Amino acid sequence: MALSGNERPAVLERLGRQIFDLVIVGGGINGAAAARAAVLRGYSAALVEQDDIGSGTSSRSSRLIHGGLRYLEQMELGLVFESVSERALLARAARHIVRPLQFVFPVYRGDRVGLGTVRLGMWLYDALALFRNYERHRKLAPEEVSQVVPGIREAALRGALGYYDYRTDDGRLVLENAIAAARGGAAVASYARVEGLEAGRRIKVVNVRDRLSGETLAVRGRTVLCAAGPWTDRVLGNSARHQRWLRPTKGVHIVVPHERLPVKSAVVMQHPADARVVFLLPFYERTVVGTTDTDFEGDPADANTTVGDVDYLLEAVAQYFPSAHLGRGDVFATWAGVRPLVQADTDDPSAVSREERIETLPGGVVVVAGGKLTTYRRIASACLDAAADVIAEAGGPPRRHEVEGERAPLPGGEGLETEARLEELGGRLSSRLNDPEVAAQLCHAYGSRAPQVLELVDERPELAGRMLPDLPLVWAQVVFAAREELALSLADVMVRRTQLTYRALDQGRGVAVRVAKLMGDELSWSEAKRKEELASYDRLLSLSFRNE
Ligand code: FAD
Repeated sequence: MALSGNERPAVLERLGRQIFDLVIVGGGINGAAAARAAVLRGYSAALVEQDDIGSGTSSRSSRLIHGGLRYLEQMELGLVFESVSERALLARAARHIVRPLQFVFPVYRGDRVGLGTVRLGMWLYDALALFRNYERHRKLAPEEVSQVVPGIREAALRGALGYYDYRTDDGRLVLENAIAAARGGAAVASYARVEGLEAGRRIKVVNVRDRLSGETLAVRGRTVLCAAGPWTDRVLGNSARHQRWLRPTKGVHIVVPHERLPVKSAVVMQHPADARVVFLLPFYERTVVGTTDTDFEGDPADANTTVGDVDYLLEAVAQYFPSAHLGRGDVFATWAGVRPLVQADTDDPSAVSREERIETLPGGVVVVAGGKLTTYRRIASACLDAAADVIAEAGGPPRRHEVEGERAPLPGGEGLETEARLEELGGRLSSRLNDPEVAAQLCHAYGSRAPQVLELVDERPELAGRMLPDLPLVWAQVVFAAREELALSLADVMVRRTQLTYRALDQGRGVAVRVAKLMGDELSWSEAKRKEELASYDRLLSLSFRNE
């Protein structure tokens, strides 16, 4: 089945009718990947997400597929080893959206961590990757650092280490998993909120409210996987004897124009106030700084960027790039995510482990929390291993183990087994469009699905035009999002499918009316619904940080 808004009535009807082996609550990376793994193992699966697919923490990360160099300091060697192994696997399975990125780790006289220690750490990092990373680390002399990172403070610079990790589009990574799950037969519904769980019997019942119609339905499953990320305690809180699982922390990123911090490599900065690592990251045609790490209470949906968050990140930039004079006024977009960290005995939020916890509760509900985007495939696999026993006990198929397909390419990565194949695809797209930048963007956003976007252009040539002159995004992507990628609201397209919210200097305000028109035509919106969508996107932007 396609992951299309037009299929929604049929999906909802199925959700109310069928008894599934597995019902998954939460369409973040863990839930979407578990749905994919479930259908690959031959289970029937339903995935219900309260908002857009991937709209929770999984589209608000630093977007790195990384071993997590800083976990070395905490001696979490197992986590780093697992992460670098998954990094290698993902770089093959999703070649289009998991791309190598050079990092520069500058070291100054008086830094908490000296050059020798960083170098040792780098060696260990490469060793844990069995020396098979994209490139091995190398030492950079102070003069070289200034060449690679223009504008970096030179005073007291002792040198740097250059190494590679990978960047991704986190929201699209989730989407690709959801697409694979739907193609494999999973019933995937967004804007479907779980309001109650009835466990403890053979067939569990998940009470779901369709947020678009207001109607409720009971979804039945042999087991339930709660993959609600930072909402875990809220979802489980409905059941008796619930003990708090999480110690959530908030992480903020700020986006500034590239000209203000023109970096091509990522830079690892140690914050002058607390020595925490803060990244400076090239982000499409912009630059991103992140992240903060502060305890968070309340509904994760309300997490927002404060002036204090922005100032904290600017302080790190001022230390490393004093001549940039970056100020609050340069920040044109931000995002805030909540880490679903598992409770730990520490006062320092940054010291809480990123390891996941997977447990089967006495009523037969499997819960997953914590973890990293990078290790999602292994987490999903472990969730399925835990669910398998409950499914079998509840009269479902006997226990099934991990299958090879779980390591196979995601939909956009199919046919792109080598870098040459990706380049070939880019060349083909380029020859069909007169705009190499657009061709490259389509190639990296959709991979082998990109020709499908061009089919829309064949039907309607006006969709080949750029949405904005300075961004390589085209109108066809809006129609494609509504038709093939389950975009049901204006924000789904603006924030996650195109990322205009973070890439356009006006956050997409200037094109919102046309986007709403194109979406409305696809999804049969009334005039009132179209206006409501525009107003709701405006509200969303008004909540984000403004220098006022
Ligand atoms: P989520 O993505 O939050 O998914 C849970 C979903 O459940 C949500 O979509 C939510 O809407 C849904 N839900 C909640 N309640 C209900 C309900 N009642 N009914 C239906 N659905 C419901 N990891 C990395 O590997 N690399 C990084 O660079 C990185 N950077 C990070 C930076 C920040 C600032 C943060 C916050 C995290 C970062 N992480 C990173 C960690 C990673 O993003 C998370 O571990 C991961 O995204 C968590 O995924 P999840 O599926 O558990 O949660």
